[in-house]
Amino acid sequence: APILSLRGVARRFHVSGQTPTQALQSTNLDLAENDFLTLLGPSGCGKSTLLRIVAGLERASEGQVLLDGAPVNGPGADRGMVFQSYTLFPWLTVLDNVAFGLRERGLPRAEQIEQAQAWLARVGLQNFAQHYPKQLSGGMQQRTALARALANRPRMLLMDEPFGALDHQTRELMQELLLTLWERERTTVIFVTHDIDEALFMGSRVAVMSARPGRIKCELPLPFAHP
Ligand code: ADP
Ligand code: ADP
Repeated sequence: APILSLRGVARRFHVSGQTPTQALQSTNLDLAENDFLTLLGPSGCGKSTLLRIVAGLERASEGQVLLDGAPVNGPGADRGMVFQSYTLFPWLTVLDNVAFGLRERGLPRAEQIEQAQAWLARVGLQNFAQHYPKQLSGGMQQRTALARALANRPRMLLMDEPFGALDHQTRELMQELLLTLWERERTTVIFVTHDIDEALFMGSRVAVMSARPGRIKCELPLPFAHP
């Protein structure tokens, strides 16, 4: 059975005094465990809307969104999110950012620290545990965000243009890191991008979207990355 299943999902936005925007229409999608789906399309075609519906941050106007066979009814720790703009807690150290979900789950402090340190090591930040986000480069902040998302052992990792604000070299390093973590942790990923190179070389599948109304036009397997 697929881990995620979208059937006939649509989303309209109503802004008073204007015709509603059909952001997403008739969208069907199945994701198997360990898939790495890149969602590619021009700006405004509904990529973020689709991702936010899967995240439970937005509701579908129509259709069905099933995660492990159960309807999605809001956000949850089973879906780790990484956004383009760094969403780290500025008042927490790097370590406590990564430990945030573990703490919410009530893990003993010693275990929080041990697990968060292990995740920091996996993203190459073992020496930055006591730094604050603003003391880090953009790439390092995104490494922290990635570690924080993965520390909860989510069923899926949802990423919205996560490397879009990084310089070219940092971006390539982050792409490699993400692929390594995906292969090692056997996690399921949806990765939103409008960059064709990134889409073609990152995932195991690409879904290409078109705008007005936003929908998936085609899906292709990708030969470059191996799960
Ligand atoms: P993408 O991520 O591909 O750039 P989005 O999903 O952000 O596209 O947006 C799809 C369409 O929905 C756009 O036309 C956008 O303006 C519109 N839209 C997105 N969010 C809202 C909102 N909260 N209110 C009104 N319109 C929205
Ligand atoms: P990234 O590729 O993760 O964005 P940078 O290219 O910005 O990292 O930085 C390269 C290296 O410089 C980092 O791995 C780190 O060792 C060091 N560095 C960057 N920012 C800082 C900082 N604020 N404090 C200490 N070392 C830093």
